[in-house]
Amino acid sequence: MLHNPAMFTYIDPTIRERLTEQGKLFQVDRDGVAVDAHTVPARGATISILGPIPLPLQLCEKRIDVQWYACVRNTELSKIEELADDLREQNGQQSFATLASFMAVNSVLLVGDPKNWVEPLVRVHSSCLTGDVFGSQRCECGPQMQSALDLIHHDEQGGMLIYMSGHEGRGIGLWAKAATYLLQDSGEDTYQANRSLGLPDDSRDFSDAATLLKYFLGDKPFRLLTNNPKKVDDLNHFGLQNITRVKHVSGVTEKNRRYLRAKQDWGHDLSPEDIGTG
Ligand SMILES: [Zn+2]
Repeated sequence: MLHNPAMFTYIDPTIRERLTEQGKLFQVDRDGVAVDAHTVPARGATISILGPIPLPLQLCEKRIDVQWYACVRNTELSKIEELADDLREQNGQQSFATLASFMAVNSVLLVGDPKNWVEPLVRVHSSCLTGDVFGSQRCECGPQMQSALDLIHHDEQGGMLIYMSGHEGRGIGLWAKAATYLLQDSGEDTYQANRSLGLPDDSRDFSDAATLLKYFLGDKPFRLLTNNPKKVDDLNHFGLQNITRVKHVSGVTEKNRRYLRAKQDWGHDLSPEDIGTG
């Protein structure tokens, strides 16, 4: 198949075809069932997955080998591709880079061999640039993510971490989160600050996480690392019933105690001992 340079798509069609043949690019429907890209329209409420991609992680002098899957909702991917087509005539490449940056690509980090999974250990982690990447102690996201990977790595069965890239600031986005930090510094707690900006306390959408769990786990029960009972309720709502919540406290410092207290008031299962105020 000849590549036509005027034809502009996100991933070159011939490469897309090759990856599909190798089984490294595939789609799952909302129930987590793999669909045939040739018989089902590529657009619609499916999720495209690229992987497995071996990723050797170096975490605090520990090496953890995971398989990475990049996952994107096809409605978003197709919107981006349509807009890219429209913009192709004018300065396409540059505009496309701007568009692509709005596309939420979630990640699955798979640890161990799924064949051994009876009730694997799972973390659904909401992205937090300041905590996960910069190591900010205003929240406990960074240590929580690292200790989750460590626990999954040391677990007999292993499991997976799903990294939800669109969940910054409990769903309000990084820009608004920056504004809430300034409001918090003038005395508001993390939930009040969202409300002051006219934004919901928590607008995270767990439907894609549920789809990915269904695809990777089938109907197996699993253990979920979280202190947030609402996360379990949300996943229940999307049809995942066999969840055992595993308390997951780490990274508590003087700097984030007030933040954790707000979470506790909001319904997180944290005892005074957990946040060092007992
Ligand atoms: Zn955070």
